[in-house]
Amino acid sequence: MTELKELAATKGFSLFEEFSTTNHEQVVFCHDAETGLKAIIGIHNTVLGPALGGCRIWNYATEQEALNDVLRLSRGMTYKNAISGLNLGGGKAVIIGDSRTIKTKEFMQRFGRFVNDLGGKYITAEDVGVNTSDIENMYQVTKHVSGKPQHLGGGGDPSVFTAYGVYLGMKASAKKAFGTDSLAGKRIAVQGVGHVGSLLLGHLQKEGAILSVSDYFEDKAIDAASKFGATMVGLNDIYDLDIDIYAPCALGATLNDDTIGRLKCAVVAGAANNQLKDEVKHGNELTAKGIIYAPDFLINAGGVINVYQEVLGYDEAAAYASVEKIYQFTADLLDKADKEGITTHQAALNTAEARIAAAKASK
Ligand code: NAD
Repeated sequence: MTELKELAATKGFSLFEEFSTTNHEQVVFCHDAETGLKAIIGIHNTVLGPALGGCRIWNYATEQEALNDVLRLSRGMTYKNAISGLNLGGGKAVIIGDSRTIKTKEFMQRFGRFVNDLGGKYITAEDVGVNTSDIENMYQVTKHVSGKPQHLGGGGDPSVFTAYGVYLGMKASAKKAFGTDSLAGKRIAVQGVGHVGSLLLGHLQKEGAILSVSDYFEDKAIDAASKFGATMVGLNDIYDLDIDIYAPCALGATLNDDTIGRLKCAVVAGAANNQLKDEVKHGNELTAKGIIYAPDFLINAGGVINVYQEVLGYDEAAAYASVEKIYQFTADLLDKADKEGITTHQAALNTAEARIAAAKASK
């Protein structure tokens, strides 16, 4: 019996109750015995348009963990797309497995056909474990993909734009915390040196920040440390560093009961989705500690902004112009939270929810 079946058999557990708590429209379980594909697509909200969000391949310890992740990630996309002014709803997919060993062309195309079956209600893209060549493979079986390589008329790897947006959001947060947005001499720890983390390091190095890095794969951390002149730190030690800015660029929920008490930084600004394990409790704890938290779904929207350009007809200059707005949006949002006496995360949620409610009311 699989874990989800065991859970379903547990007295009191109901998938539909779970979905009504998170308010999901549709959750699709995809299985293919031939390729070994096990995927879940979460469509959270389509009031503003088709649900767009990347596909993550991760070796989840349990199926429940994969389900939780897709539910959290797809809900986050609803807010990210809404706050960024995009006419897109929120969705996301997860595939269970190790991306370093599980991926073949057939495997990705099988997933692409499941996406195609949804007829455009969900548009997929890159996320952890999925790159532009996977997108290219899927594009051969479905047009409902974005983040295509440039030779196919796409905007290429969205991480370039994500990293740039995170950098700008970090600068706006630094301005609020330190009175200047210069990152020269600021001690910044980047957790996760994958696509976004390493591109972010490039911006930070150029500005003269003092860098620390960690990564789950030691070889990646060693490479990044040498390329960007950073100090490599242990996976768990990153939370105890004497730093100015902590940039979570790995997986979510790293702001939690175990870590917040240990943080010594003034700003948290990074690319990872769903950084707050508990949005209310951990958002409040950061505020109480005087740490400025740049809402993840606001400052990491550069990638989806670029991908949205692809849906409209790709225009790189327009994509950059939209991503640049993240600086002012972040500055305004941090001030708004201050004025209203609420957490920065709550201020961001309120802004996104107001746009969705207005669109719903006008339908
Ligand atoms: P990636 O897979 O290229 O990089 C993630 C890195 O984090 C990997 O190198 C992985 O080994 C490392 N990692 C995992 N767990 C870790 C841990 N506990 N400590 C340190 N390192 C750890 O993914 P990415 O595309 O760079 O995305 C990074 C984060 O940003 C993800 O949460 C993703 O959802 C989010 N994000 C990415 C984009 C994008 O455009 N790629 C857009 C928005 C949000």
